[in-house]
Amino acid sequence: MTSISPRSVDFHCHLDLYPDLRLAVLACEEAHVATLAVTTTPKAFRRNRDLTRQAHYVRVALGLHPQLAAERASELPLFEALLNETRYVGEVGLDASPNHYAGFTEQVRVFRRILMACAKHGDKILSVHSVRAAKAVLDNVEELLPPGRGRIVLHWFSGSLSEARRALSLGCYFSVNERMFASPSARKVVSILPRDRVLTETDGPFIERDDGPIRPGDVSKATSDLAGLWGVSEDAARVELVRNLRELLVP
Ligand code: MN
Repeated sequence: MTSISPRSVDFHCHLDLYPDLRLAVLACEEAHVATLAVTTTPKAFRRNRDLTRQAHYVRVALGLHPQLAAERASELPLFEALLNETRYVGEVGLDASPNHYAGFTEQVRVFRRILMACAKHGDKILSVHSVRAAKAVLDNVEELLPPGRGRIVLHWFSGSLSEARRALSLGCYFSVNERMFASPSARKVVSILPRDRVLTETDGPFIERDDGPIRPGDVSKATSDLAGLWGVSEDAARVELVRNLRELLVP
């Protein structure tokens, strides 16, 4: 992501959940958006990787989504086998919302295995989901993935202010999307983040706009919302966000 100069950053997008993965990759390439293409199962990784081999701006993360972790725990060995093929891991994490709480114990087991594997490899960057589970995510990160062994980017963080402060003290980054600005509590969390720990994301295609799902790499609204919060121009916010990405990627 650092070899060329991106215009903006989408650090969490499910390119393979759009109708045409090739077109989704192309959209990010043409707009020069440094994009992290997260995946939800290890089996999805290879196709994403194969379709992004020539990409300048898109990188693929190896994932095992917490909402699928309980039923796909059998793919953990595949996850571990593929881990040396990418520096990026995601979407991983924990989800304690009512629909997923039944499998929470299994989610924790899977997430811990992933954190241990990442710590063993070293130098991985993880995009982490933490819905209703910020404390459990941070407890496991603190125990198993010290800052010298990997980096955490908390995606669409919905934890409390004190949990956000704890995450900052553990070295975490935050990828922020436009929907967070519609929630007073999430907005408050974003407002306390040091600017140099912030990235943007779309979480496409899961964010809906009036005319359909958010487009891959379209962080324009998240960027302008951050610019407003920071009291800077959109261009200045973009420059800051790209700088943050470069800093995150320094080994
Ligand atoms: Mn996601």
